[in-house]
Amino acid sequence: MVVIMQPDASASNIKDVIEVIEQAGLQAKVMEGTQQKIVGVIGDKTKLGDANFESMDGVDEVVSISKSYKLASREFHPQSSVIDVAGVQIGGGVPVVMAGPCAVESREQLFEAADIVKEAGAQFLRGGAYKPRTSPYSFQGLEELGLKYLAEARERTGLRVVTEVTTVEAVPRVAEYADMLQVGARNMQNFGLLKAVGRAGKPVLLKRGLAATLNEWLNAAEYIMNEGNPDVVFCERGIRSYETYTRNTLDLSAVAAIKHLSHLPIIVDPSHGTGKWRMVKPMAFAAIAAGADGLMMEMHPNPARALSDGPQSLTPENFREVMDGVHKISAFMKQEHIVPMTI
Ligand code: PEP
Ligand code: MN
Repeated sequence: MVVIMQPDASASNIKDVIEVIEQAGLQAKVMEGTQQKIVGVIGDKTKLGDANFESMDGVDEVVSISKSYKLASREFHPQSSVIDVAGVQIGGGVPVVMAGPCAVESREQLFEAADIVKEAGAQFLRGGAYKPRTSPYSFQGLEELGLKYLAEARERTGLRVVTEVTTVEAVPRVAEYADMLQVGARNMQNFGLLKAVGRAGKPVLLKRGLAATLNEWLNAAEYIMNEGNPDVVFCERGIRSYETYTRNTLDLSAVAAIKHLSHLPIIVDPSHGTGKWRMVKPMAFAAIAAGADGLMMEMHPNPARALSDGPQSLTPENFREVMDGVHKISAFMKQEHIVPMTI
């Protein structure tokens, strides 16, 4: 961190700044520019507590040099992390696919979906038991019964289960049934929930907030990791933009940016990212080509009858087609040693 002084800052203004830094047990280093002086802070800046340099006389601005998200940052952890979820590796070079209906609607619907997901070669079954719906009158999910069906579907297929948790109170219950806890877009900055999943002892799938910057997203991961849980996987699911044709604007550049900024894996959800089933396949292919560690996709045995997100849900047939392409693209990239980006 550096404190940039105003051009007309006096020697005593600079002395005051140095005093605050040294009183916190840190080192101050004054650098002379042609116009301004800069005071560099050396050491752990958390020791500064609430020190507010910007309200001190003669201070122009404070600029952070190192990242506020130390645990999630690649800066302090150059090696890419591989996250193990009940024996399935995310970030290990094989794209991981999480698929299933938007919501768990019944045992029959879930079992049918689970069998298709398994047969097509995906590793995870998804399905919401607690649904964060825009309207309180929309289907809210089967709650604990939905979790039970998910656990039964896991027994039946051997798929791992990822499902959303929407409240702090529900964390222990969801953690009891699921292999991976999903924090949805609407809760990405629910800091109480982030801390609770950080203490739940299960890997976390952290979706990007509806209008979150990468910096906010990375700091959300930091909240989880700071509670002692290193197993966080990002999921890009589109952000709000001025475009109304698509439900969200899928930001595939986030894959490359997160890979550069963080050691944690990132997967892409082209279903919520576009809101249109026709766009899921091309965006899924592009995500894999861009270096995503996996995909999350909605698939419903009968999308026309889905209780939520039917328009973006793949039919079983479409899903198999997407899976086939994903397998071929990743096999080709591996065979030809295509490395999506230089980190
Ligand atoms: C979901 O995955 O079912 C979901 C609600 O997604 P998001 O939080 O990305 O909207
Ligand atoms: Mn959905």
